Amino acid sequence: MRGLEVKYEELSPAEWFRRNKELAGLTNPTRALYQTIREFVENSLDATESYGILPTVKIKIEYVDKSKGWVSVYVEDNGIGIPDHEIPNVFGKVFYSSKYRIRQHRGVFGLGAKMVILYAQSTTNKPIFVRSAPIGSDKIYEYVLMINTLKNEPIILERREYPNKYGWHGTAVKVVIEGDWGKAKRRIEEYLRRTYMIAPYAEIYFKAPDLTLYFPRATTKLPPPPKEGLPHPKSVDVELIKHLIARDPNLTLKEFLIEYFDGVGKQTAEAFLKWAKLDENKKVGELTEDEITYLTTKMREFDGWRRPRADWLSPVGEELLVEGIKKVLEPEFVAAVTRKPSSYGGHPFIVEAAIAWGGKIPPSEKPIIYRFANKVPLLYDEGSDVVRKVVEEIDWSIYKVKFPAPLAVIVHVCSTKIPYVSAGKEAIADVVEIEEEIMLAIRECARKLRMYITKKEKEEEIYVKYATFNMYATEVAHALAFVTRKPEEEIRKKLRELIVKKLGVDFEAKLQEEQTAKTEQAQAQTQAASSKPETAQVAAKK
Ligand code: ADP
Ligand code: MG
Repeated sequence: MRGLEVKYEELSPAEWFRRNKELAGLTNPTRALYQTIREFVENSLDATESYGILPTVKIKIEYVDKSKGWVSVYVEDNGIGIPDHEIPNVFGKVFYSSKYRIRQHRGVFGLGAKMVILYAQSTTNKPIFVRSAPIGSDKIYEYVLMINTLKNEPIILERREYPNKYGWHGTAVKVVIEGDWGKAKRRIEEYLRRTYMIAPYAEIYFKAPDLTLYFPRATTKLPPPPKEGLPHPKSVDVELIKHLIARDPNLTLKEFLIEYFDGVGKQTAEAFLKWAKLDENKKVGELTEDEITYLTTKMREFDGWRRPRADWLSPVGEELLVEGIKKVLEPEFVAAVTRKPSSYGGHPFIVEAAIAWGGKIPPSEKPIIYRFANKVPLLYDEGSDVVRKVVEEIDWSIYKVKFPAPLAVIVHVCSTKIPYVSAGKEAIADVVEIEEEIMLAIRECARKLRMYITKKEKEEEIYVKYATFNMYATEVAHALAFVTRKPEEEIRKKLRELIVKKLGVDFEAKLQEEQTAKTEQAQAQTQAASSKPETAQVAAKK
């Protein structure tokens, strides 16, 4: 029988991702423009704050050809830069990264920049322009690159170098893509606002056809940079064990465990090996395939490991979080908490949460949610995010919140491995341990909010009494003055003292403020009324 010819072929990672751009959030010109900004800004922030540099990021979007919907995106930072010989690979090879380490980063997949370039190639067929200088470099390097998708290799179209006269360091990139600025505008603005909220130590310039934004550095405090860690024994799989064995096959099982895993000392290693009925002196290089599988399974099952260390995480911290929120949301009240480190499946994580209330937060039927993962704001797919689930489970009336309410809930999860729902990195999956921590964190803040609301209610109550007493005091003073023939003002003063003593607070300033406000309002109204005929006249003359 003919016709059933089956053709087998290999696909390079670059080609595979070119065909499946949606997985990385590059679904349409609107989302693609947002995603492009996001990937470049994340790279810039990784290259600065993770190395103790206060970030300055400059972003520019311009129309290249409006009729075709082509825009250029330029992002520049003052980061650590990229070594000359690495530039082609980091931008031209899918799955090439400096972040495949156990450390907290915004970037995770070694994919972001390449996805943008692949998208640029598929839509406008324009290369990426890169300029970079590592710290201390006496030269600045420029490349114009494309990706050979079939081979997953960079194509170097141009390379130049200049003397680095002013000691600049950092990276600038520019791409031309099909992007809908008009539609992406609000999202991008929101993304930048939220980025600034979680990183108020960053300075961000933004310029687009009809929007210029500037976020000044609000503080020079940086969170401690994340450290690099070891895998936790509970998070291993067979492949990882094999890679590690290959590094040093002569180690004994006990030495191997102590050397390559997080938090494993002599005692823990011995306890585990005894429990798993393994010979501690056996050379790891001599383990059979079945024994390696057995070892892996047992490592994942054992309950006696220490909790993963969290030094390689970099939470924002309560103080900076409050600072960022105050700057961006301008609320009346804010409470934040950074929880203690916890872990899931051998990955350490820390949850931070905050609740902001009142002030410039608009009242809404549900709490407004701000989600962050490793300091990256998440704007899409809120519906599938664990934070949304938790916020909806909370009975807010316990905390004296009555909707519509001016309430914002902010949650930041940082981890060496964020369990994203998809490669678009927009939603965190509902891993039980993370869910619990988020719940505890929000509740802790919510209790503070309740205290605040209660205090305010009480104040309000007393104030109403105060205002009422005061009103009567004026009348009573008048009457008493008439009867006793004593100065009215003196009686009035005495009465006021009595009221303050009884209520335990003095609202005089507030009362006066209210009075002034009322008078001003009245004045404004009379003015408006008197100026109306004028306007009418002018209009009529025309
Ligand atoms: P990822 O960020 O997940 O590693 P990317 O494709 O976005 O993947 O970036 C690949 C690598 O390029 C990064 O790991 C980093 O080493 C390097 N890189 C990209 N942008 C910058 C930048 N602005 N400054 C310094 N290094 C950068
Ligand atoms: Mg990246």
